[in-house]
Amino acid sequence: MNSICRNITRIKAELPKNVTLVAVSKYHPIEAVSEAYKSGHRIYAESRPQELVLKAAALPKDIQWHFIGHLQTNKIKMVLPIASLIQSVDSLHLLEEINAAAPKYCPNKKIDILIECHIAHEESKQGFSLEEAFELITKGKYENIRIRGLMGMASLTSDKTIIAEEFNSLKALFDRITAALPAENAEHFDTLSMGMSGDYPIALECGATMVRIGSAIFSE
Ligand SMILES: *Cc1c(COP(=O)(O)O)cnc(C)c1O
Repeated sequence: MNSICRNITRIKAELPKNVTLVAVSKYHPIEAVSEAYKSGHRIYAESRPQELVLKAAALPKDIQWHFIGHLQTNKIKMVLPIASLIQSVDSLHLLEEINAAAPKYCPNKKIDILIECHIAHEESKQGFSLEEAFELITKGKYENIRIRGLMGMASLTSDKTIIAEEFNSLKALFDRITAALPAENAEHFDTLSMGMSGDYPIALECGATMVRIGSAIFSE
């Protein structure tokens, strides 16, 4: 077994059964994803539309691709036909443009997305505030979109208390939205995507149902 497969197998063994591993293959070559594929893992994520298109064309069709990067509206048409989940919807404008583009680029199907929330104390990270996300998800009506849950990134810090505090704030919002949604929407609102290579054990303790792991899988 190659080292990428070993990493995937080791990390999967650490995850509770209800938690989905997303292997973040961004910046890594197609060959690295081919190696990872041998482990049986089928869910990968990219952060650039061009790279997503190239990899999806070159790799087996049973891979589920997630998109996790900042998406410019003029690139929506590249991502919609490929991505099974767009995790990084970070503005109302993007949400509305995806909703409008869906019938053309991905007909007869609702687009699964996550709302990216700003939970880090750092200034630079994009996304909705927790309050904006609550309003949007409980009140908004987008006929071509299914909002499946929330995505967030914690601060880049070694202070585990801060990281846990940030993840807990997202989990609290997730629970609050779940309680506020009508039953038929709550059914699909099932994904809390938080935790990366450096902080996923904390995210698991805070209730993540999906972790996005790149360097711990693909770098030696
Ligand atoms: C790059 C990236 C990851 C993976 O980060 P690692 O530290 O390599 O595990 C997860 N989520 C998002 C949104 C990313 O951009």
